Amino acid sequence: MGANKDTINQTKYIFVTGGVLSSLGKGITSASLGCLLKQSGFKVSILKIDPYINVDAGTMSPLEHGEVFVTADGAETDLDIGHYERFLNQTLSCKNNFTTGQVYKDVISKERAGKYLGKTVQVVPHIVDEIKHKINNASDDNDFLIVELGGTVGDIEGLPFLEAIRQFKYEKQDLVLNLHVTLIPYIKVASEFKTKPTQHSIGELRKIGINADILICRSEEALSDGIKNKLSYSTNIPKDFIMTAKDAKSIYQVPNNLLEEGILDAISKYFKIDSITTNLQDWDKLTNNIINPTKEVNLALVGKYMHSKEAYKSLSEAIIHGGAHIDAKININWIDSEEITSDNVEQILKDNDCILVAGGFGERGVRGKIEAIKYARESNKVFLGICLGMQLCVIETLQNKAGIKDANSSEFSNAPSKEDAVYLIEHFLDANGMKQVRTQKTELGATMRLGEYEFEPKSGSLIESVFKGTKCSGRHRHRYEVNSKYEDVLEQNGMVISAKHNSLVECVEIPNHPWFVGVQFHPEFTSSLKEPNCVILKFLQAGLQSKK
Ligand code: GLN
Repeated sequence: MGANKDTINQTKYIFVTGGVLSSLGKGITSASLGCLLKQSGFKVSILKIDPYINVDAGTMSPLEHGEVFVTADGAETDLDIGHYERFLNQTLSCKNNFTTGQVYKDVISKERAGKYLGKTVQVVPHIVDEIKHKINNASDDNDFLIVELGGTVGDIEGLPFLEAIRQFKYEKQDLVLNLHVTLIPYIKVASEFKTKPTQHSIGELRKIGINADILICRSEEALSDGIKNKLSYSTNIPKDFIMTAKDAKSIYQVPNNLLEEGILDAISKYFKIDSITTNLQDWDKLTNNIINPTKEVNLALVGKYMHSKEAYKSLSEAIIHGGAHIDAKININWIDSEEITSDNVEQILKDNDCILVAGGFGERGVRGKIEAIKYARESNKVFLGICLGMQLCVIETLQNKAGIKDANSSEFSNAPSKEDAVYLIEHFLDANGMKQVRTQKTELGATMRLGEYEFEPKSGSLIESVFKGTKCSGRHRHRYEVNSKYEDVLEQNGMVISAKHNSLVECVEIPNHPWFVGVQFHPEFTSSLKEPNCVILKFLQAGLQSKK
């Protein structure tokens, strides 16, 4: 593997564009290619460019845009960054995602600061230069930087980015490869795969001055030699640079599928790197566990963004990772918390081996989540509460066990109630003289506690054993904090605050229960196929054990 690296001394760029239609899996393709190159011993990073105007994904509804993924340094990014981390098994940063909004914001700030020395500030060259600067900024000392451009060729908002890619190729020549992901639809009535949409999309790129070097064709089945020949003639791309990406049972099969199609041979040929050898043994074993597991766990996932499963992308992937490591298929029963009442909760949840209450924002669905937590606590079901899910564990114990009926979160009422078990972080930090914890992150400009924080687990706690031998930390994305003034009351009522960051509550648990844990951070943001998150893994393991 080491020999591969010796042949590289300058960062090589692989630009990934998409044609024909969206949702072709450019993100998974980019992540899979990154995975293959990394498994071959190279230093790799992946950048996602989003052509929307939002400065980051933080303000976008999970129902419309899917999950907001949070990096260790606290950037709120597109969910593709999560795929990159999961396939690369590597921590990325705010440099790995930028948007049109960010580009314009930075150009306008420079203009306001007089940095353009009286020039008329224009899309070409200034916006395009800023885009190139941000791409360069992400390359660091990597052997390969894969750059995925969101959207589809032909979109109006994508044009400045395609112009930047064209210029990049002009400036860096052989260090730049253009990879185009396209769709080859199968038309049933004609019993034929159709190449015309791809020909148009390649033509569109050519008009902008970009020649695709590698073509990845999404299709239902492997493409025949005949179709590849036809594509080659109509696009100028040699046949061995045209790959099929046929529909896969699991996204984790995609690296192997691309490898078998010869993607690494094409890349080594293009960049004149001797030959690239890779080792996917561990990866394949885990993928095989995903596809042919021998055991089964039924998990109730109680949430509220049920119309868009993309809102729980990292969570459902982290559950797959955990499942792969215990060789079990995890059947996720998606449960809308708005449908849970005290009358039906048992009926809805009883057949599950474990219950997970997910994070979320706002009051909608909270009642049902509290019912689910009460049921898990009282019926000794294996339980994990994440972020809002943890805050509600505290509220549930205070309301139902400690008899503090008014215990609530200030998120759910306009004015803070007199029993704020969960506080607005600003109030809390002011009240506790802990402004410094907050200000560590204020340069990120967000109003939430974002990014990775370390914590101290209580000695002898379950969470201490879960994290044993690993760094105790987790990624956050929330405004509110559990008010530790309730610590004693909680303890008297069977719940232990089992980890803190300074005095901020990070984990709670119920010692007198088979497995009941709440975490303020999002364990799903730090899980990859090769290294599943320990909280989720141990939770699933406990679920599996509870079947016996
Ligand atoms: N709404 C809660 C807060 O802001 C929890 C957020 C979450 O679950 N990500 O603190």
